[in-house]
Amino acid sequence: MSHVLAAVAWPYANGPRHIGHVSGFGVPSDVFSRYMRMAGHDVLMVSGTDEHGTPIQVQADNEGVTPRELADRYNRVIVEDLRGLGLSYDLFTRTTTRNHYAVVQEVFEGLHKNGYIISKTTLGAISPSTGRTLPDRYIEGTCPICGYDGARGDQCDNCGNQLDPSDLINPRSRINGETPTFVETEHFFLDLPGFVQALNAWLDTRDGWRPNVLRFSKNLIDDLQPRAITRDLEWGVPIPLADWKDRNDKRIYVWFDAVIGYLSASVEWARRTGDPEAWRRWWSADGEGKDASAFYFMGKDNIVFHSVIWPALLLGYSGEGDRGGEPGSYGRLNLPTEVVSSEYLTMEGKKFSSSRSVVIYVRDFLERYDADALRYFIAAAGPESNDTDFTWAEFLRRNNDELVAGWGNLVNRSVSMAAKNFGVIPPALDLTDEDTALLATVRGGFTSVGELLGKHRQKAAIGEAMRIVAEVNKYLSDQAPWKLKAEEDKPRQGTILHVALQAVSDCNRLLTPFLPHSAQKIHELLGGTGVHAPQPRIEEVEDLDGGPSYPILTGDYTVGARWEPADIVAGTALAAPKPVFRKLDPSIVEEELGRLEG
Ligand SMILES: [Zn+2]
Repeated sequence: MSHVLAAVAWPYANGPRHIGHVSGFGVPSDVFSRYMRMAGHDVLMVSGTDEHGTPIQVQADNEGVTPRELADRYNRVIVEDLRGLGLSYDLFTRTTTRNHYAVVQEVFEGLHKNGYIISKTTLGAISPSTGRTLPDRYIEGTCPICGYDGARGDQCDNCGNQLDPSDLINPRSRINGETPTFVETEHFFLDLPGFVQALNAWLDTRDGWRPNVLRFSKNLIDDLQPRAITRDLEWGVPIPLADWKDRNDKRIYVWFDAVIGYLSASVEWARRTGDPEAWRRWWSADGEGKDASAFYFMGKDNIVFHSVIWPALLLGYSGEGDRGGEPGSYGRLNLPTEVVSSEYLTMEGKKFSSSRSVVIYVRDFLERYDADALRYFIAAAGPESNDTDFTWAEFLRRNNDELVAGWGNLVNRSVSMAAKNFGVIPPALDLTDEDTALLATVRGGFTSVGELLGKHRQKAAIGEAMRIVAEVNKYLSDQAPWKLKAEEDKPRQGTILHVALQAVSDCNRLLTPFLPHSAQKIHELLGGTGVHAPQPRIEEVEDLDGGPSYPILTGDYTVGARWEPADIVAGTALAAPKPVFRKLDPSIVEEELGRLEG
């Protein structure tokens, strides 16, 4: 058994999440974590909502609420959505906890002590009419990179580039339209050029990575520049240096605090278990965590943060940048083992966009369809290695032709035939070559599907599992136990049904990481009791250091099925099954397209 960190991208808490988001960071990380736990690894899956920064402050200003109130609202919505999808976080928390502030400040101080944070004089905006500092969000102008006219003082929402207020062409105050004046002001920067050799040396050891991710990361290192880690803003983590910590006009930049969330969430998880040092088993590069591995899950627009910037922070904090240094109080920390990025999901041929209502929010989806139907679509047809289009017609086809007609039908006909003819799982008597061949095929799935899951090839993995399901369906059709009606044929009929039910039970394990909700139901249809596929729960908790309370996602995932075949027991009572999956009426396609237009 080994320690495996599943570090999942942090959703931004400025609105509900749509299915494009969860197809990138959510479902793939959960499938991986569930598989690794079933295979006997000690998984720590952490994330939370990302709640600082200008966009949340701007939106809160527009609504006349505080940024904290806005973040509270969407943190709760997102927590409920992720629970609805069955995403098995050990801890899903948020960046506004006092624990997070303390961990961010510790990392900042460690980097500062080692000389990897430099201060630079930049141009800050001042309102000529009041003489006061204009925070970044109140300055608007034309983006110097893409020409978009509504770019803000810290970033362009059109091209996504990071900006300074003085970069904007024709800058103006959003408060009264006046042109700001610029005066010199001090900000802190992460000295990324101080990591060029260390990052190159580390990336050279990453031979398992996808070549395009490695190439992309190496190209970035060639022209690394110092990157701002503080802003003119009131909403965020205070700068933990004397002369700075009491200033309320400067804060740590949101990207810097959010990426440290992986570490702070692990620390919070450990503190909540009553063993405050337990996080070290996944993080310490010396001692108990040194054989741990760390997998980071995100969309492709976030690769740079996980393959270059976060590793630089970890190297600098550990005293291992190009200028050396001493590790901070957490000791030397583990770098990512692998950066697992997904491509984009589009929607009926268009980019997801809340403003143009090309969007399906997770909760709207879950009100009308089952979580496993979406999980199946994402695993089988999601944006694993190519941009992929979600269409309602394809969703309907995958659900009805594959999930319902393939897997659901196999479960339903084998359990109902055994229940009707025997009332229990019948015994297997003399096995034929066909029987033993089928059982061997299914057992082989634990190796073939498992290897693919371990390599993050989830599309191929679910394809392999469904290929095995098709073999079992074919076996049942070939053996035709429904034809064996005579009394003397009863033992053979029972044997066929026993073999089929054994195959269903094992296939159910192969599909459990993908389809945990239905896997639990099928386990119970086969007469099983107890937890087969553990689910997350929402818990209302107190902030550990005296801040306001908040909801977390957590769960006990030490229970449940293992990644291995398990013999079913003849004589176990069976009842007539209810269908596990819902066949959808083709009219949903028209209805849903109508909703998109309306
Ligand atoms: Zn731009």
